[in-house]
Amino acid sequence: MFARVRQLATRTFDASLAIIERARAARRYPPRTARLERFGAILQTVVPRALVFVDRDYARRIPGLLPAGEPALWRGDEPALGEAPLSAPLEAHLQLTNKCTAGCQGCYTGASAEGAPNEWGLVEWSRAIDALADAGVFHVALGGGESAVLPWLGELVDHARGRGIIPNLTTSGLDGLDRLLPIADRFGQINVSLDGLNDTYAAVRGFDGFARADAAIRALRAKKREIGINVVVTRHNFEELDAIFAYATERRLSEVELLRFKPSGRGARAYEGLRCTDAQHRAFLPTILAAAKRHAIRVKVDCSYTPMLAHHRPAPTLLADLAVYGCTGGDFLVGAKPGGQLTACSFAAPPPALDGHRPKVDALAAYWDAPEAFGAFRRWRAAQEPCASCEYHALCRGGCKVVSAHVTGDLGAPDPECPRVIDHRRDAPDAKPRHHLPVI
Ligand code: SF4
Ligand code: SF4
Repeated sequence: MFARVRQLATRTFDASLAIIERARAARRYPPRTARLERFGAILQTVVPRALVFVDRDYARRIPGLLPAGEPALWRGDEPALGEAPLSAPLEAHLQLTNKCTAGCQGCYTGASAEGAPNEWGLVEWSRAIDALADAGVFHVALGGGESAVLPWLGELVDHARGRGIIPNLTTSGLDGLDRLLPIADRFGQINVSLDGLNDTYAAVRGFDGFARADAAIRALRAKKREIGINVVVTRHNFEELDAIFAYATERRLSEVELLRFKPSGRGARAYEGLRCTDAQHRAFLPTILAAAKRHAIRVKVDCSYTPMLAHHRPAPTLLADLAVYGCTGGDFLVGAKPGGQLTACSFAAPPPALDGHRPKVDALAAYWDAPEAFGAFRRWRAAQEPCASCEYHALCRGGCKVVSAHVTGDLGAPDPECPRVIDHRRDAPDAKPRHHLPVI
């Protein structure tokens, strides 16, 4: 009992100081506070840290938000959220480099010591930040490869801050720590990838790097409060999730972010051996809710987990109010490869060329409203069963297209790991099989 009270008091103390740090950063580098949308507006609050979607009526009552008269964007009837893509992404995931010496067996991008051909440098990424800021993007998530080794990372982060964009970072913690520590306070959130504790880290990643990642977490946490961990959930670490949450609490981290294993990059080869079982997916929500409550820590789950949340049949309005959306690649978020190639999300391949051109992220605005932009990612409304009749479809959008494309060869196929999709295939034996993914 005493330990629990002490844990909650520590958590409250850290959260309060984190709010002060965030508010100070917002005074020093004021972030974008709002953006108009066809349905109304998106507001950004620093405390609590949130993006809030409001309708036109609400937006009209916010002092200083509207230009004189009604904005041109509001001509015509007010659409519901999700009826059409946003005016620009909320967030861009920029893979600044594909250089990384760690060699993780499941690396989503197949990073290597050599990196990708024709990687962009500071000039090009600064230009991309300008394009994203002009479009109205709120956040960038910087990753790699290992971006912490880039000598110009601090300059890019300052540039993003100067343009009202909050930069967040994911790092392995295995390399570049000396460069990262002096600039750590310029980021919003920094998350270290930690896919298990001790031996489990090695089972998931293919080498023993836990002690180094742990040392990086301690060093970063000594500099900054908003340090978290990213955990790619696999068959091997699922049973350890509670212990991972306990570890995060013990290290006084601000969040645990859980990512589903994606078959992209080297992860495509490792997918069969690492993906979670169907039973684990069905147990995912109660498992993480219990762990988050027990260890009093904030948990975030990535977009690809929406089918596993929907399986427990929460009210769709509750999910919408909590801003739980599924596959919003090419809409709420975009990605960019190390040479600037635009993608719908960081796990997806670049979309088909339009007019012979593959878009780059610094030309986002020219591509965004093109009729076939982002291909199947934008065609989610034309769903097959059982997504078409699913009450969560408008939120989930058919599950993870990267998994669908890998397993079925069709980006637009229902997510083959969704429990409802699995049940549908079992209960409708005459439904045309679309793949041969064994249920494990
Ligand atoms: S394909 Fe969709 S659900 Fe999967 S990671 Fe990308 S945006 Fe998220
Ligand atoms: S059936 Fe389709 S829309 Fe419904 S939860 Fe599953 S993947 Fe999402």
